[in-house]
Amino acid sequence: MVELRIKDLSASIDGKKILKGVNLTVKGGEIHALMGPNGAGKSTLGNVLIGHPDYKIEGGSIMLDNIDLTHKTPEERARAGLFLAFQSPIAIPGVRISSFLRTAYKQLHPEDKTTVTQFFDNVKKHLKKVGLDESFMSRSVNDGFSGGERKRFEILQMAILRPKIVILDEIDSGLDVDALRLVADEIMEYASGEVGFLIVTHYQRILKNIDPNFVHILVNGRIEKEGDKNLALEIEEKGYDWIRS
Ligand code: ADP
Ligand code: MG
Repeated sequence: MVELRIKDLSASIDGKKILKGVNLTVKGGEIHALMGPNGAGKSTLGNVLIGHPDYKIEGGSIMLDNIDLTHKTPEERARAGLFLAFQSPIAIPGVRISSFLRTAYKQLHPEDKTTVTQFFDNVKKHLKKVGLDESFMSRSVNDGFSGGERKRFEILQMAILRPKIVILDEIDSGLDVDALRLVADEIMEYASGEVGFLIVTHYQRILKNIDPNFVHILVNGRIEKEGDKNLALEIEEKGYDWIRS
């Protein structure tokens, strides 16, 4: 079974220390919620896990099963089975969604024998599930997309690329109630397998649709409190200040 092990992870950006010793293990079949106030370092953790070049790892390690990912490239991490849905996905004008998905898929699953037709039938099926029109296939990645469309497309990528460990950074922000339900359904359908989830959010909102097994609260670069879904409800009621102090 897949297991992501984050040990004593510290990281900085522009010489500023953001993560100060994060310990977290996500196993296949588990859903973890990572919550915390603005600026706590949640997105930094996601970016560091996927190997964003702007961040410097100061200490600790990231293991996926027996592979040490700590200093690997983003491509190697993706091949090992890691996936990050960005908080603010960027547009890539000129790169068609159809070729983007097909190229990424073939890189990640070189052994797969799915035909082009089968592949795009599957893409169409999932476009529908996340509430995007088929015409999106010939558009450029995120180019001119609304915030909500970008979030739907992130989830579609997860469903198509089939990673082992999924990190979702505020996938719920910018989604209306109906879109949130579609996205949550797609996540739950994918979660029924052997996949591990780390769902980053600062609201309890998405956790009404997706039941986490574990909740971790990140404050000032450290996980200061852990619990089950009741902890998320407690945060909803009391905010984060009581954990800070
Ligand atoms: P969260 O996702 O929990 O709201 P972030 O990880 O985005 O928090 O940010 C944590 C801290 O790191 C913040 O103080 C933020 O200003 C800082 N930070 C993030 N990215 C950069 C950057 N590119 N340059 C300088 N500081 C950054
Ligand atoms: Mg963030």
